[in-house]
Amino acid sequence: MTGNELAGQYRSETDGPTPPPAASSAFLGDPDGNAAYEHAIDRARKRLLESFATAEDPYAGTDHEALRERIDELAVFPDEGESIEAVLETVADEVLADSVRVHDPGCVAHLHCPPAIPALAAELLVSGTNQSMDSFDQAPAASVLEERVVDACCDLFDYPTGADGVFTGGGTESNVLGLLLARDWYCETRFDRTVQTAGLPPAASDLRLLCSDAAHFTAKQAAHHLGLGEDAVVSVPTDGDRRIDLGALDSTLERLEAEGRHPFAIVGTAGTTDFGSIDPLEALADRAAERDLWFHVDAAYGGACAISDRLRPKLAGIDRADSIAVDFHKLFYQPIGCGAFLLRDGNRYRFLERNAAYLNPERDDAAGVPNLVSKSTRTTRRFDALKPFVTFNALGRTGVADCVEYVCELADAVAAEIRTEPALELCCEPELSAVVFRYRPDRLGRSNRSSEQVDPDTSTAVDRINRSIRDELLADGEVVLARTEVDGTAALKVTLLNPRTTRSDLREALEAVIDRGEALEHELGDSA
Ligand SMILES: *Cc1c(COP(=O)(O)O)cnc(C)c1O
Repeated sequence: MTGNELAGQYRSETDGPTPPPAASSAFLGDPDGNAAYEHAIDRARKRLLESFATAEDPYAGTDHEALRERIDELAVFPDEGESIEAVLETVADEVLADSVRVHDPGCVAHLHCPPAIPALAAELLVSGTNQSMDSFDQAPAASVLEERVVDACCDLFDYPTGADGVFTGGGTESNVLGLLLARDWYCETRFDRTVQTAGLPPAASDLRLLCSDAAHFTAKQAAHHLGLGEDAVVSVPTDGDRRIDLGALDSTLERLEAEGRHPFAIVGTAGTTDFGSIDPLEALADRAAERDLWFHVDAAYGGACAISDRLRPKLAGIDRADSIAVDFHKLFYQPIGCGAFLLRDGNRYRFLERNAAYLNPERDDAAGVPNLVSKSTRTTRRFDALKPFVTFNALGRTGVADCVEYVCELADAVAAEIRTEPALELCCEPELSAVVFRYRPDRLGRSNRSSEQVDPDTSTAVDRINRSIRDELLADGEVVLARTEVDGTAALKVTLLNPRTTRSDLREALEAVIDRGEALEHELGDSA
């Protein structure tokens, strides 16, 4: 039936369709709906506090099979609904109870932060108002506030006037945006090719981007998504501190040029995901400037240093980057997702320009109407900029900076403790708040200062024990650590983001690692 046929069923104007019951009970706007809103939010808030925010361990320890078995029983599209109390009770029992508790001081695995309370209040407004950033008429004040927050971020990184940017879902999206603009800028300036309309030039198969071997995998992912292929990413070795080796970078650039390749971008990392190491940004900016290449800085993790007077010097040179990726949902304590992409010369957004008659017609651009859809790879987009705005206004820049400084100091303290503990080996000096280490088995060569030098059998045992330590601790739920690999051998990682985590929490975590390690070592010894 078409719309007109449907309308034809109604004889008069008053004889239209009747709104469904949910119209007033499940939507804001009239007294019933408003009361239902208060009630639902209040219940959700109570459930969160009862079952999640006050639990004893970071994780209940349930494994994926048990969870699948239980959760597969839940209805997803039941014909009839039930009360919000009943639904939230199910969610509390089945989901919250087996969620990883990011507020717990022992939840120290990933770049996964406890969200700051002001941001949670903002989140309620972001979803409740549901502004959509793809056009001014769907997000009037929100569009202007996002522009304001982006400007303030540009100032934070000492970008000049004319810089621009946009909020993103995180570092993955910000890195794609940076490399997309880098690719299109390079193709226009070197090959006189407009990629947006004409696609990649024939020389595209020779395009190369350089980053360190500790850079985030999204550099490769972006190269794939941009039609260049992962082989277009040339990874440059790092030094002992996991920073890009400048000598190796120079020789790689020379080699690529001698081979007739087109290196178009250098990606520096300010805070590698595993080690928190920061590439020498000034030196990378010099390299990019000498050859007129795009310099993108992935500051998803380390960008938070910019708010601290004490930590900011670590980012020296970042103002020379053509583009910056910064995440707010990591060391900036914002609920997921919240990131920003910043562009030193806002004119370069021309490579993404798009006008849609229904969203942002060209005549609006001429009148200066905010046009955020042309700065993003998304269309419909959340008003996530409100979250850091509320957080920074509530806690002040120094309030947030204190948290960032504290967790970095805590990392130094943990590293010091690991260094003095013969059963543990520190894999890298912490630069930010991540500490990578290993349990070092006694009978398998504790006298060796580094397990990289031990024979392959021992290295397999080190691997096995460290992997098992992490798995057992997760199954136990008392500490949630991360795993990674350093030079091909398993390692453990703590990423400190929670300002409520203390040195004694971490001492307990290290003791738990050593206890597990010793027990596993005995088992291994017994079975050998
Ligand atoms: C987390 C991270 C990313 C990916 O960012 P998402 O926010 O997870 O999309 C990219 N680069 C670095 C260095 C990161 O730490």
